[in-house]
Amino acid sequence: MEFIPYSCQQVTQEDINSVVEVLRSEFLTQGPAVPAFEDAFAKRHGVPHAIAVSSATAGLHIACLALDVGPGSLVWTTPNTFLASANCARYCGAKIDFVDIDPVSRNMSVEALSTKLETAAQTGRLPKVVIPVDFSGLPADLREMRFLADRHGFKILEDASHAAGASYLSQPVGSAWSDLSVFSFHAVKIVTTAEGGVVTTHDPELAARLRRLRSHGMTREPAELERAPDGPWYYEQQSLGFNYRLTDLQAALGNSQLARMDSLQQQRMALADRYDTLLRDLPLVLPPRQADRVSSWHLYAVEVGAQAKASRAEVFRALRAANVGVNVHYIPVHLQPYYARLGFRRGDFPAAEAYYANALSLPLFPALRAEQQQRVLEVLAAALEQPA
Ligand SMILES: *Cc1c(COP(=O)(O)O)cnc(C)c1O
Repeated sequence: MEFIPYSCQQVTQEDINSVVEVLRSEFLTQGPAVPAFEDAFAKRHGVPHAIAVSSATAGLHIACLALDVGPGSLVWTTPNTFLASANCARYCGAKIDFVDIDPVSRNMSVEALSTKLETAAQTGRLPKVVIPVDFSGLPADLREMRFLADRHGFKILEDASHAAGASYLSQPVGSAWSDLSVFSFHAVKIVTTAEGGVVTTHDPELAARLRRLRSHGMTREPAELERAPDGPWYYEQQSLGFNYRLTDLQAALGNSQLARMDSLQQQRMALADRYDTLLRDLPLVLPPRQADRVSSWHLYAVEVGAQAKASRAEVFRALRAANVGVNVHYIPVHLQPYYARLGFRRGDFPAAEAYYANALSLPLFPALRAEQQQRVLEVLAAALEQPA
C-alpha cells in the first residue's frame, strides 16, 4: 500500500523555473531575490520589516539577541513546541522557564502566564522575553499577552514557525501584537525554501539590528556608521553577529511559493474540514476551532480520547504499520534530558504532559487526496477499536 507521509512539500514547475533563473543570474547570494522575498513576505503579513534568515532557529537566536537577551536574562516559552523555541534563549546564556498550555487550544495558557507573572513580579524575577508559539498554525492569545507584556514590561517574541498566513482578530500573524515574529520555511512548513526563515517587526531599530546580526554584526549603511568612513569600501562590525543569510536560490523558491500561499492554505483548510467530518464519531479529541482566528493548518493534531480501546502508542504503531505517516507533536521540551539537567521535572507542566500522552498528528499537506483521507479514517477507526 502506498505510503502517506504526514507532510509533503509542493514544488511546481514555476518554483523550479524561478530557482533556475537565479542559478543563471549574476547573484547566487546577496543579490536581489532576498529583498524581493522579504518585501513580498512583509506585505502579505501586514508588517513593514521582514528579515530573511537561514532558518527559524537562526531567526529565534538573533531575535533574542536583538531584544538584549543575555546571561542573567529570563525567557519563558511553552513546553508544547519544537526544541528551538527554548534553545534560542540558551544560545544567549539566558535562563529558560516554561508556561503550561491551555488544554483546549494547546497554546500557552494566558491564565497560567498571568499567574506566573504575578508571582514573578513579587519576587523580582520577571521575564525579559516571552515566546508564545502558534501551535499547529492556530494563533496564540496574542492580544491578552500584549496586555500582560505592557503591564509587566516584557517583550513578545512570537514563534510563528507554523503560522505563515494565519490571522488573529482579522490581522495577519506577525504584525499587530508581537514585538518580533519568527517564521520557518523548513520543507514541512506552510511555504518552503528547503531551510530558511524570516523575522518580522514593526520596529525599524530592531529591524536594523537583526540585519546586522544576520551578517557578522556588520553594516555599510552610512546612517548606521559609528565612525567617519575611510572611503567608499568602508564597513563596520558593531556587534558580534553571524552568517545566518538566506541564499538567492532559496529566496526565489520562497517567493514563488509565497505567491500561492493563500491557495495552499485554502487546500489545507478544506482538508482539515473534511477530517473533522470524517472523524467526528471516533473516540478522538479533534483540533480546536476558535472563531476569532484563522489557522494556517500546519498540523492536524488529534488526541486519542479516553473512550478509545487502544493507547496512543498502539494507534501510532497500527497507523505506521498500515503505511500512514503519523507523527507526535510535541514531546514537552522540559522533559528532554538537556532540560531535565537544568532542573525541570515530570509533573512541572501537567497540561502539556497530558496533551503529549495522547497526541497524534495525522497526514496533512495540500496534495493529500480524498481517498487517502478515507484510508486514514479506516485505519484509525480499526486501531482505536483494537483492545490493548
Ligand atoms: C520548525 C520549527 C522551528 C525551527 O524551524 P527551522 O526553520 O527548522 O529552524 C522552531 N519552532 C517551531 C515551533 C517549529 O515548528
